[in-house]
This record gives sequence, C-alpha cells and structure tokens, in this order.
Amino acid sequence: MPDPSRRLVAVRSVDAVTGVDDRLAEYRRRRDFARTPEPSGDRREPDPPGDRRRFSIQQHDATRLHWDLRLEHEGVLWSWAMPRGVPWSPDENRLAVRTEDHPMQYLDWQGSIPAGEYGGGHMVVWDHGTYDLVEHADGKVKIVLDGGRVQGRFALFRTRGRDWMIHRMDPPQDPDRRFVPDGLRPMGAVAAEQPPEGDGWAHELRWRGARALLTNEGGRVTIVGADGSDLGPPFPEVRRIGRQLAAVETVLDGVIVAVDGAGRPRSEPGALDRRLGLSSDAGARRVAASDPAAFLAVDLLWLEGHPTWDLAWAERRTLLEELALDGPAWRTPSVHRGDGALVLVAARDQGLPGVVSKWIDSPYRCGATTDAWVETVLTT
Ligand code: MN
Repeated sequence: MPDPSRRLVAVRSVDAVTGVDDRLAEYRRRRDFARTPEPSGDRREPDPPGDRRRFSIQQHDATRLHWDLRLEHEGVLWSWAMPRGVPWSPDENRLAVRTEDHPMQYLDWQGSIPAGEYGGGHMVVWDHGTYDLVEHADGKVKIVLDGGRVQGRFALFRTRGRDWMIHRMDPPQDPDRRFVPDGLRPMGAVAAEQPPEGDGWAHELRWRGARALLTNEGGRVTIVGADGSDLGPPFPEVRRIGRQLAAVETVLDGVIVAVDGAGRPRSEPGALDRRLGLSSDAGARRVAASDPAAFLAVDLLWLEGHPTWDLAWAERRTLLEELALDGPAWRTPSVHRGDGALVLVAARDQGLPGVVSKWIDSPYRCGATTDAWVETVLTT
C-alpha cells in the first residue's frame, strides 16, 4: 500500500547522480525490467519512524513453491526464501535461504513474473504485519512477528553460505496442534450384493485404480498406498496438488486412476499398471505424458494440525469440498445421497467396478473395516 508520507530521501549509499542504491544492485542485476512487472529497485525508502517495522510473507509459485520472508530494514527488505514456509512448532526448524535484498516497494507486491524470467511464477501476499527486531548479529536475526496469520518469536541463523534456518522460539500459536502421524492407513468397506437403501447413505462410484492417502505439508506431498507403499515417485503430476494446497496441511483419502486425454477416469482393468511400476521421477514424467493419471479425493482425515476422523462423514465431506480441489491431475468427484441403485446402474454403464456407500453420520476409522462403509462390487 503506497504511503504518501514515505518520501524519497537520499541515503548514504545511494549514488547522488543516478539515484541507484548499491544494496539493490544484485536485485536489479537478476531482473530485466522490460520483461518483469516487479518494482525496478532503483531507489531506497527510509524506514518509518518508531521501532516497529513492516514485514510480509509472499507465497511464490515458482519452479518450486516457496514462501519469501521480507523484513523492512534500513530502507530495503531483508529477504529469505522458505521452501516449506514458516515453522509452526519449535520442534521443527525449517530452511530459509537468504536471497538478495529487495526494494521496499516489493513488500506488498503481488503478480505474475513471466515464465523464463528470474523467479518466474505467480506471487501473492500470504501474510503481512509488523515486527520487532530483538537481536541482530552476523548470521543471526531474532524477531517478533505480529502478522495476520503468524505471530511469535523467531530466530533466523546462518548454517552455511546462503543457507539459514528459521526456528520458532515460542510455543505453537495453536496449543493443540500436532504433527501428522505416520502410518495412517485407509478405511475399508464390507461387501454387499446391493447398495443399502435410505437417506442416511451417500454413494460414490467405485473407481478402478490405486487407493492412496495423500499428505500435504508445506506444499510437500507424499502419497502412500493402502499397503504402505510409496506412491509419490510414480505420480509427479499428482504431487503438484501441493501447489494448490500450499500451506494448508491436509491428509486426503482417495484413488489414483488412469485418465484419458480428456481427463476422464479409464475403467479398463490394468490401465494404471504401467504407471505403478515406475520408480524414478524422470521415468514417471516421460510416461505421464502418454499415460496420464489423476487423484480422486473421497475423504479428509486431517486438516491444519488436527484429525478430522472423529467428525461425521457429512462434516468431513463439507470440509473436503471447501478445499475446492480442482486441478489438472486432482479433483473431488461428486457423491449421491440416497438412491444407491441408480448409482450402481451408472457404474455399470461406465464400466466401473461398483459403488461405495457411506453412512453419513459415521466417523473415519483409519486402517479399519466397519459396516459404516459398504462396497457393492460389480462382476463383469
Ligand atoms: Mn521467491
């Protein structure tokens, strides 16, 4: 937000003739301002009066998703790129790569840097507010952030070269927040001849593919099969869901399916086999072009540090739909309340293997099979 009271003033390191500031030389050298809409960085603004300084955290969807921390200091913005964002717990330090000082005009900048340019990708302000500088020494900065999302004491310290770590010194803002547990397994269904009847049941098409739990933590996505196998490497295009979920920590239950050129799930048995056998990113990326896959989300087990499994299916479904998952290789297929027989007909018409019916008041039971989920399997 421009502030008219923030006059341009000459500060010592600004060249008197050109008005160019040396501390921003690297910023300018990396960019072609004929191509990028970013601020030109040819001037320095004074810090505002008083002790409090502004900060922002920008979410930057570049070659790799990351979050850029900017701290107003001596007329420029100290900058660090955090590949996993700000740590919420003092138990987990996160990498913060020191990047070149940015001009003050960058603090609230949002926009798209063209592909091929330095930092190409979309940038939005994820948080902003003020901070206090508690301590500042070579390779060490202690701050107190007071933002809309992030509040608390943090220490940044250099480990090697441009690599720093960011450590949360305060307890978590949300005292009940927990790390995503390891070893989660999907819930199973009992078999039936026909879908159950009544309004208390919701029915989904049963997809042919690989059942998987997909976890997003700070944009980093892991995918685990029902047997505990690592399904991340074979499906790089599915892992890009981390760009949409970004900082929203989630564990999703779903099915990875092979899709056709129009993105429709393929129903023939074995359609996903070629993808499942791939173990390297490079190989998977090659095959993804000819044999695309997608993740169909059917349930939500975890959200922002808290399990959702004790909620009723209907509440979990609402939270899942609020995530508005809709990407090139992920989405949330529709469900149908009541009239399972009709859904079974649709499954048969589409060559799908059946219907999964879920009692709408039932909790999610990880790794368990209960009669709250009922599976009607079609035989061809
Ligand atoms: Mn960046």
